[in-house]
This record gives sequence, structure tokens and C-alpha cells, in this order.
Amino acid sequence: MSADKYVQVVVNLPLKSEFDYFVPRSLHSKVDLGKRVWVPFRNRTIVGYIVGITEKSRIKKIKEIKSVIDDTPIISPEILELTRWISEYYFCSRGEAIEAALASPFKKGKTQVRVRAGGSPYPVLENLSGKTKDNILTAHQDKALNEISEHLNREEFGVFLLHGITASGKTEVYFGAIEQTLAKNRQAIVFVPEIALTPQTLERFTEKFGKDLIALIHSRLSKSEKFVEWQRIKSEQAKIVIGPRSAIFAPVKHLGLIVVDEEHENTYKQEDAPRYHLVNTAIKRAEISNAVVILGSATPSLESMYSAKQKDFVFIELPERIEGRDLPQVQVVDMRYQRRSAKRPLILSKVLEDNIAQCLKNKEQVILFLNRRGFSTFVQCPKCGYVEKCPKCNVAVVYHFDRQQLVCHHCSYHTQAGQVCPECSAGYIRYLGTGTQKVESELYRLFPQACIGRMDSDALKEKNAHFEIFDDFKSGKIDILVGTQMLAKGLDIPNVTLVGVISADVTLNLPDFRASERTFSLLTQVAGRAGRGKTPGRVIIQTYTPEHYAIKCALNHDYNDFYKQEIVFRKQLKLPPYTHLINIILRSKNKEMLINNSHKLFDILSRHNKKQVILMGPVPAPVSKLRGNFRWLIIAKCSDILQANKLLGRCFEQWKAHSNVKVTVDVDPRAIG
Ligand code: ADP
Ligand code: ZN
Repeated sequence: MSADKYVQVVVNLPLKSEFDYFVPRSLHSKVDLGKRVWVPFRNRTIVGYIVGITEKSRIKKIKEIKSVIDDTPIISPEILELTRWISEYYFCSRGEAIEAALASPFKKGKTQVRVRAGGSPYPVLENLSGKTKDNILTAHQDKALNEISEHLNREEFGVFLLHGITASGKTEVYFGAIEQTLAKNRQAIVFVPEIALTPQTLERFTEKFGKDLIALIHSRLSKSEKFVEWQRIKSEQAKIVIGPRSAIFAPVKHLGLIVVDEEHENTYKQEDAPRYHLVNTAIKRAEISNAVVILGSATPSLESMYSAKQKDFVFIELPERIEGRDLPQVQVVDMRYQRRSAKRPLILSKVLEDNIAQCLKNKEQVILFLNRRGFSTFVQCPKCGYVEKCPKCNVAVVYHFDRQQLVCHHCSYHTQAGQVCPECSAGYIRYLGTGTQKVESELYRLFPQACIGRMDSDALKEKNAHFEIFDDFKSGKIDILVGTQMLAKGLDIPNVTLVGVISADVTLNLPDFRASERTFSLLTQVAGRAGRGKTPGRVIIQTYTPEHYAIKCALNHDYNDFYKQEIVFRKQLKLPPYTHLINIILRSKNKEMLINNSHKLFDILSRHNKKQVILMGPVPAPVSKLRGNFRWLIIAKCSDILQANKLLGRCFEQWKAHSNVKVTVDVDPRAIG
């Protein structure tokens, strides 16, 4: 008679513990680490994940598992290890981390996916077959690749920061590293900030390696499409996975290389539980598999550059554009001294307008960048000063011209746009502030003969819209493309000779300690779209704060100078990379209860704190009301996240016993609050 069997199971609830279950003898041969089981849990039956198997249990009144869902484990030992680390570092439960790691076809205990035969989700890629001729590497590319190769050959963990200015040929270095990885019979994962926005990157990878070797993971894929890609990766038919941050959980068996393109991008941080940052998580996954990580960017994040200076990462550099092309000439226009008409708002300065006209005359193309969607960004009554706000979020609503609606950009609230002030009944209300739609309409007025396209998340709602807009721009059908930060990524169109930034101040004025970094990097990235062909490019930046160092450094394309100035300020204020931040956000519909409980939690934390953290707050969060909930904030600064999380865990236990307020913890947040 063999011994008894017990399994340790975690569930997708914000509960820190593992639960023991007894395994009936009939299921002994079926249980395995990484398989799902149906288990009784608080009068329900729910899905659990097996994370341990033992012959003993200390639990007296133990329940037994009902059935085993999977024939083979759907979570590999590497991913089990990774999710354990995620739960400890990003302060979530192991079950939540595992649930996030599952591809959608496997969530909620599902097993069957009906796979319908059909075309590729990327029709435009169908005809690309991997037979372009190879470029001869430049000396810089060659040197960069050599350093990485040495590591790849030793099959040893290592992190490289590849700082390459725009159009310096970073992709070619990725290609070389991938080729070597495949030659060693290992697989690669390539991350792009948002796959829908980088059709050109996809095209180049497909051209290079052929679509049979590539698996695309993408939020717009249907469940059955995702299932197919998942199987292709697991069976090692697909050797290269391209995807957004969730691809970190792809069932790659023999991982050799991880590439994170545009590593500085905000989209690499997940905004709901588990709130992981891809760069950090990718490094952990590579460490587990003895793989190499390449972080590529023209504007590395302060954290990554700091790690390179500390020699935690190997620093490699591509300091020149391909074929010795010049970086575009940048001109800053001081909007304070522009002549304006009484009749309409000043959107385009005379210089920018003239330059656009000149481009159109030369049959060259233009990109105009404004990081704000919608038509008017706030609506105000000139008589009583009333500003229309979202009733649930306490932020100004944005007027959308195409829908004739006032829309909240934080929740789904929207209302019909009216002419009458709801406060004082004055018969006219003003639509102020400029979004991409207003720029578009101004362009129609100024250049009626031009073909104008818009690329922002409103325009991209349809499944393949991004490919269509992109194709029309690439083929020259669109003369001027207006858009948000989506434009800053990956576009490599030789005929673009002018890039205009409508307002550099939009990101600069955000209440965020990364505002300067974001502004510098967006300006540099978007400027990098100009002059990638034979004709030199030109960039015009409109701003009300031309003296700001983020703008001055972007003007000179000087990353190093920017880093030097910004890092001093981070050091003085004890901000990342000199410390880690943890946002503790409390929320409730009942404001008084919220304030009371925020103070209570703060007191408990202060009492137990033995210098693991520096505590600040409690204060109302920068977004003080969201979707009907009031929000308060406690900030913890620390040098050791795991230590700090232990403290938080203990204090929350004590506090939760008397509190109905909801709390979320965001480790290494993008912004405070
Ligand atoms: P980055 O990602 O650094 O902005 P890309 O990888 O997009 O730059 O390269 C810019 C352009 O230069 C692309 O059109 C690419 O095909 C071309 N290119 C890259 N390396 C070489 C090379 N060694 N020889 C010729 N052209 C190259
Ligand atoms: Zn809202």
C-alpha cells in the first residue's frame, strides 16, 4: 500500500496562503505540479493550481480534491517559479500570479477550445516568407553583437542594455542574437510595447525568419487563435515569440534569449494585479532559464541606465545612424511669443504651418504629434466658470467630435454634448484645450487638398485599423498623420521629412516624478521618425517652457546630458533608481470611513516599522475619486522590496480585521498615486 497523498493548492483570490487537500487514491496517478484541479472552497467548487505534493498534512479536518482537470501540466516548473517570485515581489497572491500566467483559453478551468480553420490574424503578413537579403552589419552593430554572442554561447544568464539612437539599426542586432539562439536549438521571446502599433517591426521579423517560425501573441487575437499559437510554442514549432508583456508567460521550453525593444515604455507595466513590470520580470525569467536579456532603447529608463552604470547590466552602444545619416534638425518654437487671432485658438505656429505647406509641395510626408486624444480637453462655461466633470471620477470630461459626446477618459462615463451650462443655464459653453481631433480639423481647414489620417486609440478600435492606417501612410496615400504617443514607436518611413510636436507641455505638466523623463523620451522617439530616408529630416517642437532641460536635451539629441541632470534630481529627492516606491491606495465610497481607516493603517505601519520603509501620507491620491470611489494614498519608500512587503503583509492582517476599506498595493509604480 503506497503512502497517502496531499496537494498544496493556490486559488485565484487575493489570499496569501496555500491550501492543503487530500488526494483520493483513484486520483493518485493523475496529480502533478502545474496541473489544475477542482476543489471545494467555502461552499463552492473552484479551480485550484497544484504547487506542491506531500505525503503528510498538518490540517486535521481536510477536504479532498474533486477532480484533476489537466492530463499534462499546463504550467511549467519555470513558470511556477516565476509566479512565486512575482507574488512575493509584486505583493499579490500566488494564485493571482498563476491566473495571469495562463493564456485566456485556459482561464476559469476551461479545457476545450474549438479551433476554426481560418486565415492568419495578420493578413498582411501572409505573403512574407523569410527570404530578404541580409544587411552587412556596421562596425558598431558587429561589436555589439559580438559581446552578446559570447554570452549566448556560454548559455549563461546576463543582461545587456543596448543604447542605440533612433535608426541606428538595433533590430539588426536582435536578428543576429536570435539567429544564434536558434542555432543552439533554443527559443527567443521578443517584446514590443504594443503589438498593434508596431506592424512594421512584425513585418521585418516575418521577412527575416518566415512566419512558420514565429508565434504572435496579441490581445486582439481570438481565444482559438491564442490557443493555436500557444500549442505552436509548446511543441517548439514556433521558435520566436513576439508579443506584449503577457508573452513573458509563453510556454517556451528552451528559452535562450529575451529581447525587450523600447524597454523604457510605460506599457510594460501592468496596471492591475499582478502589477508586474516586464523588464524586471523578464530578467527574473531569464535567470531561471540561464538565458540572455537584451534591453534596447534610444532613451533607456533611468533605472536601466543606472543599473548599467552600476555594472549590473552590460552596456553596449550604437551611437550613429545607419549610413551615417544625420539626426534631424530640431527647432523649438516658443508659443508665448506667437501671434494669435481672437477668433480661433492657436494650434499651429506660423513656422510649423509653413513647413507643412513646403512638405506637401515637395510630396513629402508629415507626422504631427499630440499626446491627448479627443477634440476639446475640457468644457467650460465662460459665464460662471463651471467645468463639466465626470460624476464618478471628479476629472474633466473630454469632448469627442465624431461621437458628439463628452467622455470620461478614466471610466466609461459619457453624455451628450450640449450647448447650455447645466449650472447657470447660460446659452453657450466653450470647448477648450486641444486634442488630436481638433488638430485634425484645423488641418482640414488649412490644407483642404491634403489627405489627413489620425492614429490614436479612438481611431484604432477596429480589429485591423492599425494596419490600414499604417499601409495608407506607408504607400503615400496619407500626407499628414496626426496622433498620440502611438506614433512615436517603430515607424520607419523614409519619406517622412517633418515631425511636428503640437505641445511638448502635455506630458511635462503631468503630476508625476517621471514627467521630465517621459517628455524627453517621447520627444526623442517621435523626432526619430523624421529623416530616416535620403532626405534629411526636420523637427519642430511647440512649447510654453522652452527653457526646461527635458526640451533642451531633446533639441540636442543628448541622452547623456539628460541622464546627468535628471539623476541628480532623483538622488536629491530620494526617488527611483535610488529607492523603490510602493503605492498603497485605499478606496471606498464612504469618504469618512476611508479617511479614518487610512490613518489607522498608517499608525499600524508606523508602529511595526523597524526602518524597512520610509512612510509618507496618508493623503488624498492625485486622482482623488475614481469610478465612484474616493481614494487615499500612503507611500512607502524602501531599498528592499521583499523586506517591505513582509511588513505590509503583517500590518494589513491586523488592519483588515476592522476595516471595510479596499486596498491595493503597487510596487515600483509608474507614478505616485
Ligand atoms: P532602430 O530600431 O535603431 O531605430 P532600425 O533597426 O529600424 O533602427 O534600422 C533603421 C534602418 O536601417 C532600417 O530600415 C534597417 O533596415 C536599416 N539597416 C539596419 N542595419 C543596416 C545595415 N547594417 N546596413 C544597411 N541598412 C541597415
Ligand atoms: Zn469617470
